Amino acid sequence: MVKILPKVLANLLRKPFTVKYPYEKVEPADGYRGKPSITKEKCIRCWQCIRACPDRAISIDKETKTPVIWLGRCTYCGECAEACPTKTIVMTKNFEFLDQYEK
Ligand code: SF4
Ligand code: SF4
Repeated sequence: MVKILPKVLANLLRKPFTVKYPYEKVEPADGYRGKPSITKEKCIRCWQCIRACPDRAISIDKETKTPVIWLGRCTYCGECAEACPTKTIVMTKNFEFLDQYEK
């Protein structure tokens, strides 16, 4: 019991590891997979992304004939970005996008 007391006291005085999100912003670690982003101008319409998506979250926009990601189905696995030969799809670090849902 006596041995543990210094550790308890040290931990009581230590700053918490957690932050007061959303009042304090957090920078995700490298490799974090947030919202996928599509730069439609770079798309060559090879549809590798659609084949790679395990959740069938990608469809083809009828007007622009480019991929559209249904974020309600997406599990942020990053397979589409891996499969895309032109880096049209990239995984961003954005995790605050509830108000940015596309169709
Ligand atoms: S991140 Fe994964 S689930 Fe989301 S669209 Fe890409 S392949 Fe599909
Ligand atoms: S894999 Fe990339 S280039 Fe091919 S259709 Fe999908 S977004 Fe376009």
